[in-house]
Amino acid sequence: MFTSINPATGETVATYPELTDAEVEKKVAAAHAAFAQWRTTDLATRTALLSAIADQFEAHKQRLGEIATREMGKTLKSAIAEVEKCVSGFRYYAEHGPKLLEPVEVPLAKGTGTARWLPIGVVLAIMPWNFPYWQVVRFLAPCILAGNVGLLKHASLTQGCAQAIEEMVTAAGAPEGLFANLGIPSRRVAPLIEDDRIVAVTLTGSEGAGIKVAEAAGRALKKVVLELGGSDPFIVMPSADLDAAAQAAVTGRIQNAGQSCVCAKRMIVHADIYDAFLDKFAQGMRDARVDDPMAEDTTMGPLSSVEQRDTVLEQVATAQEKGARLLMGAEKIDRPGAWMTPGVLVDVPLDDPVAQEELFGPVAMVFRAADIDEAIRIANDVPFGLGSSVWTKDPSEQERFVRDIEAGMTAINQILASVPEAPFGGIKRSGHGRELGPWGLHEFMNLKAVLRA
Ligand code: NAP
Repeated sequence: MFTSINPATGETVATYPELTDAEVEKKVAAAHAAFAQWRTTDLATRTALLSAIADQFEAHKQRLGEIATREMGKTLKSAIAEVEKCVSGFRYYAEHGPKLLEPVEVPLAKGTGTARWLPIGVVLAIMPWNFPYWQVVRFLAPCILAGNVGLLKHASLTQGCAQAIEEMVTAAGAPEGLFANLGIPSRRVAPLIEDDRIVAVTLTGSEGAGIKVAEAAGRALKKVVLELGGSDPFIVMPSADLDAAAQAAVTGRIQNAGQSCVCAKRMIVHADIYDAFLDKFAQGMRDARVDDPMAEDTTMGPLSSVEQRDTVLEQVATAQEKGARLLMGAEKIDRPGAWMTPGVLVDVPLDDPVAQEELFGPVAMVFRAADIDEAIRIANDVPFGLGSSVWTKDPSEQERFVRDIEAGMTAINQILASVPEAPFGGIKRSGHGRELGPWGLHEFMNLKAVLRA
């Protein structure tokens, strides 16, 4: 049984039964059978279904948003914006699908050659709770377009969102078995990966889950895409618009109550503007309105669970023990649920274990850098390599950051966010493979070489 607890109140919202082995078998068999049909459908059928799913998400955005807010605490405003992003994700693949799947001409010394994009089968997706709709859509929209079939193992916390997605896809007219939500706990994932009817796996989640899933996929020799954690640098140089940078840093750090893989987690600020930036940034963090996530003017709700909140508070305490200074906030709020205030840590020693970890909550670490070389050194001095955000008007500095920051993504003078058109993913311990755009679509396709005499 899965229990959804509203982190804003501590109350139980709903319970969801765990599927029995027989129920899982039925869904896997239905998925396998659906692939035999779906793989032969034409692109017009697939793109029409994507558009119909987009319409469903659009029509139900308020209700979907409320489910997410109640299950994991994000503000209703941001939950609805997430659903709207899902709509744009489905529409992107609906609109651009045929172009993205055009055969590629392969010039040959002899004869003619093309490379054709073909589907591969049933893809298992293991997804987290933090963007409970968008993370799923990033896998599902290209999966449907490719001619593949999807099975979802969603986070235990967000089973209501998982059910709602299944409902939207079914209501849009998807054929039986094309997509199914498997209500199972994580310990039942590895045996599923071994099942011959599942051909590939994609996981968005923590490093620990990534290791387990990659091990299982490796043993079964199956393709795997891993979107894991990050500790993104947010670098501010003297030429930056300081007000804009400080405001973006606040948004970047407290959006989704700090629980985003690509939000700004480590602010690295040039010494010449360090004090000025820190004043503005800390003031912005103090001004954040932490309250009922359903309310229109709330900027930050609770964290997703009491456990998640306590993990962040423990990391802050550990950092302080090792010499970091808590400039403000990061305090537990005394009300039922998973509440805390945004916080700012300064003077964190670079070799402090917390400086090397992901802080998955609304607490920033601010570092001082003497020059661009030191800023890049600090940025790269973590095991992760997901995103980054750099603030400078100097084109040569921008190029240095693009070239030298070890990350899958660099945003310039803006906070980083995933968009349907651009590749999304990381390097180092942030995982491998890419989602979104043509790259995410092609990850789970068979690029067949066709050679004609
Ligand atoms: P998590 O514990 O790794 O959970 C993610 C998913 O993996 C859940 O469905 C979870 O199921 C499942 N899972 C956990 N352990 C597993 C195992 N041993 N075998 C198979 N499945 C397993 O991560 P989280 O705490 O929910 O999410 C936060 C993490 O995700 C952060 O590190 C964040 O940076 C990362 N993230 C990355 C991206 C990206 O695109 N790179 C995006 C969002 C989040 P249960 O819930 O049932 O345990």
